[in-house]
Amino acid sequence: MADAKFVEKVDEEPGLPGKEANLDPTPEYMPRYPGSGRLKDKVAIITGADSGIGRAVAILFAREGAKVAISYLSEDEDAKKTARLVEDEGSEALLFAGDLGHKDLCERIVAETVAKWGRLDVLVNDAGEQHPDKNITDITPEQLQRTFQTNIFAQFYMVQAARPHLKKGAAIINTTSVTMYKGSPGLLDYSATKGAITAFTRSLSGNLVEDGIRVNAVAPGPIWTPLNPAGGSPPEKMEHFGESVPMGRPGQPNEVAPAYLFLACADSSYMTGQVLHPNGGSVVNG
Ligand code: NAD
Ligand code: MG
Repeated sequence: MADAKFVEKVDEEPGLPGKEANLDPTPEYMPRYPGSGRLKDKVAIITGADSGIGRAVAILFAREGAKVAISYLSEDEDAKKTARLVEDEGSEALLFAGDLGHKDLCERIVAETVAKWGRLDVLVNDAGEQHPDKNITDITPEQLQRTFQTNIFAQFYMVQAARPHLKKGAAIINTTSVTMYKGSPGLLDYSATKGAITAFTRSLSGNLVEDGIRVNAVAPGPIWTPLNPAGGSPPEKMEHFGESVPMGRPGQPNEVAPAYLFLACADSSYMTGQVLHPNGGSVVNG
């Protein structure tokens, strides 16, 4: 089957993907508790794990005993640091740079991970991009296609590649967003991809339930990662980033990562097709 037409990175926000090494203050990514072996001997692939939420998930999974394959677009310095942090937890890391809009890269990530460690237990689809626009007429066809390519097509490609390796007890966790639940007037294309991700999560959960593979999602609120300061939000909005949620502050990646751990391990063995909401207290349904 021929590949879908690949859409190149758009130049609207040249600072994206942002570099965590340049962020001040440094996001809090370290787990807050000792490990308890909840992912002992498991193998996980986490996309977008060089920085932000994905980095915190990678370190937490490593602390709980998993080996971790880290996919990222191009931020080598951030990715190497995350790999070091995973190794500091006594685990192992694999790094995969490149654009997940290429289906063959998704296939390579899965194939090389399974070749190295012999199994695949957890897939976390976390990579994403966003481009703020005030007017719907400002969204170019290239940006529209690119945002869907990165945020949702890549999740399909990753799941398609992973599917043959996932056995009973495996877990898939997708990253959606509070913008999907509340709407986001300045992120029309992005929030629409997040709606697609939630629908995909629910549909896939039913598709895989009889095989004992669980599929859930996490819908973060405003989290302190490179995504928004590097161009994902307009600069004038960054000054008050996170202030409008009930807790009145942005969340840190290590306040979000435990939701992924819960959904990855047997603690959530009676949950599939669901979404968790680490969002500072915004009440949303579903
Ligand atoms: P981040 O910039 O640290 O992580 C996103 C990562 O995705 C980047 O590091 C980049 O390497 C990767 N990526 C982007 N495009 C890619 C591509 N085409 N191919 C391969 N990798 C690509 O930011 P983050 O906030 O940790 O974002 C992680 C996820 O959380 C995203 O899906 C984002 O939409 C979601 N999210 C973030 C927030 C927030 O406020 N930070 C809120 C809700 C949802
Ligand atoms: Mg990054």
